[in-house]
Amino acid sequence: MSRQSETALIIGAGLQGCSIALFLARAGWNVTLLDKNVAGRHASSVNAGGLRMLMRDWREYPLSQRAMEHWVHLDRLVGEKAADACEVRLGVSQIGLALDEAEMSWAVGRAEDMKKRGLGEEELLSREDVRTLLPGVSENALGGLISRRDGHANPAAATRAFREAAVAAGARIVENCRVLGLERVRGGGWRAETSFGQHEGGVLINCGGAWGARVAAMAGQTLPLKTVAPSMMVTARTQPFLTPVVIGIDRPLSFKQSAVGSLVIGGGILGKPCPDQDTSFTVMDRMPQSAAATLEAFPALAHVPVLRTWTGLEGATPDGIPVIGPGQGTPDLWHVFGFCGHGFQLSPAVGEAVAKSLVSGTLEATLAPFDCGRFASRVAA
Ligand SMILES: Cc1cc2nc3c(=O)[nH]c(=O)nc-3n(C[C@H](O)[C@H](O)[C@H](O)COP(=O)(O)OP(=O)(O)OC[C@H]3O[C@@H](n4cnc5c(N)ncnc54)[C@H](O)[C@@H]3O)c2cc1C
Repeated sequence: MSRQSETALIIGAGLQGCSIALFLARAGWNVTLLDKNVAGRHASSVNAGGLRMLMRDWREYPLSQRAMEHWVHLDRLVGEKAADACEVRLGVSQIGLALDEAEMSWAVGRAEDMKKRGLGEEELLSREDVRTLLPGVSENALGGLISRRDGHANPAAATRAFREAAVAAGARIVENCRVLGLERVRGGGWRAETSFGQHEGGVLINCGGAWGARVAAMAGQTLPLKTVAPSMMVTARTQPFLTPVVIGIDRPLSFKQSAVGSLVIGGGILGKPCPDQDTSFTVMDRMPQSAAATLEAFPALAHVPVLRTWTGLEGATPDGIPVIGPGQGTPDLWHVFGFCGHGFQLSPAVGEAVAKSLVSGTLEATLAPFDCGRFASRVAA
């Protein structure tokens, strides 16, 4: 049965919070988002902008496929002008590069497994294929996997676009508003005690990102989450030579060339997370690992100057996929966090599926794998 005109209190105005707010507000809900900093200040704006289905955990695939449809038609969600600013480039493809026999044999197995599951977006690439697609690739490259629909977008612009669309749809965002405690309201719903007064909502949605488990604990729920700080670096501009995004199979590599020619390099090298100070730092002696992985794939880049590095705070669950769904025994408290470094691509589909589930009162099938109940959870009375 439809539950129109409900109220939702969302903690965290990153991309997930803003996307859920957008879909809920459009469904007629009264939505308030609270953020301890500025909306979009954390992972959502500083990520690599990868729109990747390639090598995803197959449990995320249906949600990821739906998200791609939204990225293709982003103007329908955020308007034409904002969608243009998001610089969505799909169809440039992402390639998982095999640089040794073990990685190549993993790629062969993965392609077979995806075919068996009926998830046919990934194709195997031969040695010759990667040489054609990736000029300058190392002599050691043996082949790989390609997902041709994949691409990238501008994360800061996308976060701004979802935020503005949510506000235009009627959502209210309260910034510099740190949630300090949560309690149930007599008669239903939740009250948040914050650095900026009290706020209430019939449904509480925890989109706290790297702080998601702390927010859950305020409501008496225990969920496992590690705080990590993925690092990125960007180089000086070089001659355009690369269209696809290249990622490592068993190496810390994620590599693309921007429209102006600079190389944007990530891939899982971690910095130092400082969630209590709302920040994180690049760790100097780990960055050479990231550079070495890039040079293994493209040796000719050895002399390209690195201009800057940065990190962002992200939450990682023990099984590598997020929690998205009601807490155990609390249909009016949802947790949506722990995206493990790949939540940017999923965000439009997350917003849609969470909002549809709340409006209809029935969990969307695409969310079934992300049930919080897969982790031992303790719910206070
Ligand atoms: C360097 C880096 C590169 C990445 N690259 C990619 C990529 O290429 N592709 C991809 O798909 N994903 C990528 N990701 C992952 C992606 O950025 C995240 O999964 C996604 O942004 C998570 O969105 P979020 O809204 O859950 O989190 P966030 O953007 O972190 O938002 C959470 C918000 O909750 C707020 N909050 C927390 N606690 C409280 C409280 N007590 N009171 C009030 N507010 C609170 C925070 O201030 C924050 O604004 C990357 C991440 C990083 C860090």
